[in-house]
Amino acid sequence: MTDAPTYGFDTLQIHAGARPDPATGARQTPIYQTTAYVFRDAEHAAALFNLQEVGYIYSRLTNPTVAVLQERIATLEGGVGAVCCSSGHAAQIMALFPLMAPGRNIVASTRLYGGTVTQFSQTIKRFGWSAKFVDFDDLEAVKAAIDGDTRAVFCEAIANPGGYITDLRAIADVADAAGLPLIVDNTTATPYLCRPIEHGATLVVHSTTKYLTGNGTVTGGAIVDSGKFDWSASDKFPSLSAPEPAYHGLKFHETFGPLAYTFHGIAIGLRDLGMTMNPQAAHYTLMGIETLSLRMQRHVENAVTIAKWLEADPRVDFVTYAGLPSSPYFERAKSVCPKGAGALFTFGLKGGYEACVKLVDSLQIFSHVANLGDTRSLIIHSASTTHRQLTPEQQVAAGAAPNVVRLSIGIEDPADLIADLDQALAKAVG
Ligand SMILES: *Cc1c(COP(=O)(O)O)cnc(C)c1O
Repeated sequence: MTDAPTYGFDTLQIHAGARPDPATGARQTPIYQTTAYVFRDAEHAAALFNLQEVGYIYSRLTNPTVAVLQERIATLEGGVGAVCCSSGHAAQIMALFPLMAPGRNIVASTRLYGGTVTQFSQTIKRFGWSAKFVDFDDLEAVKAAIDGDTRAVFCEAIANPGGYITDLRAIADVADAAGLPLIVDNTTATPYLCRPIEHGATLVVHSTTKYLTGNGTVTGGAIVDSGKFDWSASDKFPSLSAPEPAYHGLKFHETFGPLAYTFHGIAIGLRDLGMTMNPQAAHYTLMGIETLSLRMQRHVENAVTIAKWLEADPRVDFVTYAGLPSSPYFERAKSVCPKGAGALFTFGLKGGYEACVKLVDSLQIFSHVANLGDTRSLIIHSASTTHRQLTPEQQVAAGAAPNVVRLSIGIEDPADLIADLDQALAKAVG
C-alpha cells in the first residue's frame, strides 16, 4: 500500500509506505540493519549513482526501514516526499540547506522552540546565513522584513511553548506574494491536528523525537515537501533550478519536477551533511506513528481538562492554551488545528521564579525534563532551562517569562495528574 490518498488517517498511520517484506513476507517492517547494498552488476551501480534508477547504495543516503518512515510521514502530511534525519534540529538545517547561501536570510517568527531561536540567531551565522525575527501576527512587519536576500519564511503551527497558533494561510499568502517557500515546524501539532500543506506551506519540518515517536525513546527529524513550489520561477534557488556543481551539473528541478527538493535532500543534503537517521530510530518512530491519532486524541482531551482546572485555581495567574475560550487564539485554532490545540501549554504562577522552582521539585507524576510530546506528563521551567540562553526580552517574546512553567500533558488518568498538580501547588504557593 503506497499511494492511497482515499484511505483515512487512522489507516494510513499504520499502512502508508509499508508492505510485507518482499524477501521474507515479514508483516512488520524489518529493521534493515545494514550499511551497504550489493549492486546487481557494474551497470546497475552506475545507474544508481547517476540517479537514473532509484535504489539503495549506502545507508547515509537511503535505507529501506527509513524509506518506509519517510513515505509514511509524507503521506500523513499530504506531501510528495520526505527526508528523515538524525534530529529535529538537523531537519531544520537540512530544510534550509538547498535554499541558502552566504549572505542569504530567513524571516522567522519570534514564537519558536528555544533551541531553534539559538540555532537561527547564533549558529547559522557561521554559514553566513541569518534570521530576522518578527511578530507573525503583524503581517505588515513580516512583509517589511522580507528583502532581496530572503530565501524562506519559517514558523511553528502551534508554537512552543506559549499557546500561540500561527495564522498559516495568511503567512503563506505573504510568502507566496514574495516568491518564497513557507517552512512550518509541525512538531507540536503533528499531522493529526494540523496539516500545514493544506494551509499553503511549502515544506513541513518535524522533530520526530516528540509526538510522532511518542514515548521519549529516540531523536529524529523529517522534512516533508509539498511538491508545489516552482523552484525555477526565479533565480533565487540555483541549487535546485540551475546546474548543481556538487552533483556533476545535474538540474534537480528540471530532472525530478515536484520531487526535486526531496531528491536534493538525499543526494546532496544527506550525502554531504550526513545527518542521517539510523534504521533503529526509524523503527521506534514507525511503532509510535501507528497509534498517533489515538494518543493525540487523549493528549488533547487531558490538556483541555487540566488547563480548565488550572485556570479556575486561585494559585494560578493565567493559563495560555489555545484550547481554552479565554485564549486570544481559540478561534484561530479551530481553523488551523480543528482536532485540538495540542497538549502543550504554559501557566503563570502566583509567586514567580521561586514558586516555579518549588512546584517543579514537588511534583511526583510529572517529570522535570527538557522534552515534550511523551506519553508521560512533563514539566519544565523554561526560564531556568530551555530558554536560559535567551535575553529577558526574548524570553518574554517566546512566552517563557520567569514566573511561567510549561506542561506537556501525557495520556495518564487526568484525575491523577490534577491531584499531583494540586499537592505541588500547595507546597509552592500555599
Ligand atoms: C524538540 C523540537 C525541535 C528540535 O528537535 P530535536 O529532535 O530535539 O533536535 C524543534 N522544534 C520543536 C517545536 C521542538 O519541539
